[in-house]
Amino acid sequence: MHTRPVTLYPLRQAAEAPQPAVQLAAQPQGMQHRFHAMVKPVGSSCNLDCTYCYYLHKEQLREQPPQARMTDDMLEQHIRQYIEAQTGEEVVFSWQGGEPTVLGLAFFHRVVALQARYRKPGQRVSNDLQTNGTLLDVQWARFLKQHNFLVGLSCDGPQRLHDRYRLTKGGTPTHDKVVAAARLLRQHAVPFNALCVVNRENARHPFDVYRFLTRELGARRLQFIPCVEPKAFRTVAPQHWEPGLLPLAGTAQARPGMPDSIVTDWSVDPDDWGHFLCKVWDDWYRRDYGKVHVDLFETAVAQSMGLPAQRCVTAQFCGKSMAVEHNGDVYPCDHYVYPEYRVGNIGQTHWGDMAYSARQQQFGFAKRDTLPDYCRQCPSLTLCWGECPKNRLVRAPSGEPNLNYLCAGLKAFFSHIQRDMPNIVRQVARRARPPA
Ligand code: SF4
Ligand code: SF4
Repeated sequence: MHTRPVTLYPLRQAAEAPQPAVQLAAQPQGMQHRFHAMVKPVGSSCNLDCTYCYYLHKEQLREQPPQARMTDDMLEQHIRQYIEAQTGEEVVFSWQGGEPTVLGLAFFHRVVALQARYRKPGQRVSNDLQTNGTLLDVQWARFLKQHNFLVGLSCDGPQRLHDRYRLTKGGTPTHDKVVAAARLLRQHAVPFNALCVVNRENARHPFDVYRFLTRELGARRLQFIPCVEPKAFRTVAPQHWEPGLLPLAGTAQARPGMPDSIVTDWSVDPDDWGHFLCKVWDDWYRRDYGKVHVDLFETAVAQSMGLPAQRCVTAQFCGKSMAVEHNGDVYPCDHYVYPEYRVGNIGQTHWGDMAYSARQQQFGFAKRDTLPDYCRQCPSLTLCWGECPKNRLVRAPSGEPNLNYLCAGLKAFFSHIQRDMPNIVRQVARRARPPA
């Protein structure tokens, strides 16, 4: 039986100061109010200094104080409003950073106690924790198991590839600690996903990466995240690039490691991204189909069957996955935490009023509405939808802007999987059919 640590971590009485409230608009029959937010309870604070981190620089951009931390009041407001604003049977909290475990276990004991206080009758509350794993110990593992957390553990493959970019602030490697964290999670039966950033180096070793994550780390769920960073990402927000400076797809400027490249040296090359996905797909389909879950592959199967995308990046619209910073500032997406995109603050405006606002809907529709004609005529449009708008850094052969930097790799991947897709779709459909 789960014991709730309310005596160890007493909750204060609900604050008496006026708090933002919400009146949710009526929904058509069968529709629910749902959205998702990444919570950054320590802002960008982290015990590591990964070369490619897209979040560490937010400290300067957002003038974040050192050792930023979500206050107890802000945490309570977030949990109360986030639950109030949703009517689905499940509400998912995703804790991310920076590195959320630097807060220590006491913070998360308070989280689960507050969730128990505000949960609506019949509603399920679940938690994800995205972590670099280096601070996990037995106490953490017991807590995560007891409260059914799903862990996202960052690992970029075998040691030489992982330690290329994932280092501590002192420049020491972290691979051993990640492997130890995975062992601990397995020993305590804590479910975990491996989150693998596919960069310029490990993209060239698809088998080594895939086999390490599945065979050595023991992950049964994998998420591959392409590393794409414009050189100016620390100061220039997505879609605020100078359109005239966007290079044509396929030119030297649109590849990493070139003198006048627009992306950082550690960004994945578009062709390597395609090669990586094709090789991993082949290995997965031959050996692990039905046993290992790769989110990009599962969403491709779902979309091939005419079902909704399971990931925002390949969906027609996005905008349902927002971010909230330690001080309550809200942004339309975790990748759009820039002053130009700040939506508001939960201290003044209720989560529900921001999540279902016309402004947020417009952000989500822009994913489709700003697609270049090149994408609209693409045979893989309904599997890709131009991928994530933050990666639309190049111009199509016709010169029109807003083409995805990864396009060549995406095209190669979507074309490659057509060989196996009819078989997979048949099998999935057969399994889904009710017995006669
Ligand atoms: S901008 Fe990209 S990451 Fe953000 S919600 Fe849209 S597709 Fe997803
Ligand atoms: S594969 Fe390329 S052209 Fe096709 S939809 Fe995706 S980004 Fe657009």
